[in-house]
Amino acid sequence: MDEHLLIQKYFSNIGSAYLAEHNVEVSIGDDASVTSANINSQYINSIDTSILGVHFLESMTPEEIAYRACVVALSDLAACGAKPCWYSISLTFPEFNEDWLSEFSSGLNRFSEEYKIPLIGGDTTKGYLSITVQVMGQVDSGKAILRSNAKENELILVSGKIGNAFLGLKQLEENSTSKNYQDFYKSPKARIELGMELVGLATSAIDISDGLLQDLNLLCESSNIGAEIFADQIPTSSKKILLELINSGDDYELCFTAKESDIDSIQDISRKLHIPITVIGRTNSSQELVLFDESKKRMEIGSGYKHF
Ligand code: ADP
Ligand code: MG
Repeated sequence: MDEHLLIQKYFSNIGSAYLAEHNVEVSIGDDASVTSANINSQYINSIDTSILGVHFLESMTPEEIAYRACVVALSDLAACGAKPCWYSISLTFPEFNEDWLSEFSSGLNRFSEEYKIPLIGGDTTKGYLSITVQVMGQVDSGKAILRSNAKENELILVSGKIGNAFLGLKQLEENSTSKNYQDFYKSPKARIELGMELVGLATSAIDISDGLLQDLNLLCESSNIGAEIFADQIPTSSKKILLELINSGDDYELCFTAKESDIDSIQDISRKLHIPITVIGRTNSSQELVLFDESKKRMEIGSGYKHF
């Protein structure tokens, strides 16, 4: 099968039901796609590459690999409060294999149906397996939630549970018979609905891809603030290995800041979306990220959390 047919068969119809509602005039098949701009909104654009052994495991199916690569990319739009519009994929794979491509294509379909966006283009090449996903979303002009806008004396909050993906990755790597956490790693959720609801409420946000401590530290650095967080308030599935869990990534939950006066509105959103949201601490002017244990003693988290 030549490349043209391959693209037609496995990529050209993914999420095509959503082309019109996102103003895609020309999709896969021409030299480039054509989309119409919306005057009162801004585009939010992000790209991520997933590599075998780093971002997914050999033991995962092509369906799972495709789905995860896309969600991981889309998660950046959730952190910005954007509504997803479409995505493109640059796929490099070692050899032509119809079974593999067909499963891969199913993973893209699952993703497109869940987030209601079309695949509008891409590139296909031969080489070591790697998947690059570009996502595009939009927000009302000036409304994007940024990392850089937190102020001192605001609440710090997280969605979901922190570290479940790490527990899942461990089960996968150890080929464990218990599989209860594996889906948190294999099929993470991009918190799109939550991000969109938080527009106007969250003063800043970041998606947790590298670990709560690392990512909150980035947010603090961007906003030029410090933070204190409390170990016993951080929602995790195990308190015994808390430090490991808050240092591990792959959850794609949101960590965000908000004014204390907006807490009721945020709790309403949490109930409406059935997503737990927990206050874990507060921002301050210290330029440092500090973690306290239940007796308010400072815990050792390494020296990487002081910006200046
Ligand atoms: P060109 O050589 O003009 O860049 P390609 O053969 O790379 O064209 O692509 C032809 C069409 O197929 C383009 O619309 C491109 O966006 C799309 N396409 C190629 N590979 C993929 C892919 N893996 N997923 C989605 N669309 C793809
Ligand atoms: Mg061309």
